[in-house]
Amino acid sequence: MSLKKNSLKILMLAAEITPIAKVGGLGDVAGSLPQALYQLGADIRLCLPFYGSIDTKKYKVKKVAGEITIAINGKKNQASVWQTFLPGTRIPVYLIKNIFFDCQEIYRGCKIMKNNRYVDDANDLERFSFFMQASLEAVKKIGFKPDIIHLNDWHTALVPQLIKSPENKIFFKNTKTIYTIHNLANQGITKENILKFANLDSGSPLIKTDSENGDINFMVQGILGADAVTTVSPTYAKEIMTAQTGAGLEKILKMRGNDLYGILNGVDTVFFNPLKDKLIKQNYSLKTLDKKVANKLFLQKKLGLPENKDIPMVGFIARFVWQKGIDLINGTFSGLKCQFVFLGTGDKKYEDSLKALAKKYPSQFSAQIKFDARLAQEIYAGSDIFIIPSRFEPCGLTQMIAMRYGAVPVVRSTGGLADTVDESVGFVFKKFTSRALYVAIKKAVDGHRNKKKWRAMQVRGMKKNFSWESSAKKYLDIYKKLTNN
Ligand code: ADP
Repeated sequence: MSLKKNSLKILMLAAEITPIAKVGGLGDVAGSLPQALYQLGADIRLCLPFYGSIDTKKYKVKKVAGEITIAINGKKNQASVWQTFLPGTRIPVYLIKNIFFDCQEIYRGCKIMKNNRYVDDANDLERFSFFMQASLEAVKKIGFKPDIIHLNDWHTALVPQLIKSPENKIFFKNTKTIYTIHNLANQGITKENILKFANLDSGSPLIKTDSENGDINFMVQGILGADAVTTVSPTYAKEIMTAQTGAGLEKILKMRGNDLYGILNGVDTVFFNPLKDKLIKQNYSLKTLDKKVANKLFLQKKLGLPENKDIPMVGFIARFVWQKGIDLINGTFSGLKCQFVFLGTGDKKYEDSLKALAKKYPSQFSAQIKFDARLAQEIYAGSDIFIIPSRFEPCGLTQMIAMRYGAVPVVRSTGGLADTVDESVGFVFKKFTSRALYVAIKKAVDGHRNKKKWRAMQVRGMKKNFSWESSAKKYLDIYKKLTNN
């Protein structure tokens, strides 16, 4: 599709963009929403740090702009701008290259090279402050003047302030900002001297410090500074204005209540399609759902679990963090007549507890402690049941992907899980307890025996429309409102 002359110009900044650099759902959104916006006629371009882990050959990365200069702590620092395209599209992704990002990891500070030695340096707040400043310099140098800058989570949250700085305010005079909260649990909190690092003036009226201890909270800057704030599901938008889920920011979010929108994420329906998925053993569709069982048998064999087509396979794929409710899973679950496969990495205590279960009940539990994109697809395709027992869940993609693959979700009723799963397509529990999760899985395991009813439930889930199109239209409506288009 070719862009119209008067297309809305959108710049999106994100710390992850699937498949170029991914940790979780943020990457999936930043990789697929732009495609839907492009289809709707927007001239969208993306900025991403040039992480050392990015496959430069695969993504045909090329230098597009020479050195750009960014002042940090009053000293000049250089970066260069490289470019790739979102795979299969004509959407440019500008990559910011600097020693800050030469490491393999996307988050958690990292080891960087100095004088040919790896040393611990640069925490994430500094790295992403640099990324924000450099992204603005990059588009100035390239000459792309955006109507809208779409920001994602705290890694990009200072941009509404940065575009008003003396060196940026002329170029970005007519640029509006929209800030999307993917997860309020990670806010980016640090000492006030980060402002000097980011070349911002602490006297700026929008720079509100965290009242408790005088720290700077990046998320707060995004919420207060952007022209509109969105989050990734209607239910989460309501929940974050309450003390229970607001993570201390509920008052600030309420202040922005009139400009706060909940827009459900979609999934990449081209990639997540059991009929075309190249990573799974046996392709299938609604019409050939009987073939799905071959994926279960393959998965059981691969994991070293007893191969049995009748026993329900329960899948779970997540970052192993507090949010995801891994602590609800314990030895009593061995009483359920099903097999479990857990895929993820994260906090050691969760990794260890799942490994211990797998060790104690090797014919029932499999703990795969790694990030493995192929195995993830094999699990979606091979599972009968898929669990998401989250404490809170802004949107959640795994329940939607599972449904597309005919795996019936068992979810806690929170955030986007509540918006996407009801009793017609899955099993929903409310209380955050092991017992409630156990009972819900048991209902699913029992339900699996009734072949006809089960098939009807799978079919309803597979027929649900989780494409980005309708959500992208909602974003476009906000962009247009902000720019009076
Ligand atoms: P979050 O954004 O909180 O991580 P989501 O449910 O929104 O959770 O998105 C998680 C995405 O990351 C899904 O596409 C899921 O399949 C993928 N994912 C998570 N952990 C792994 C892993 N260990 N290996 C492969 N894919 C993973």
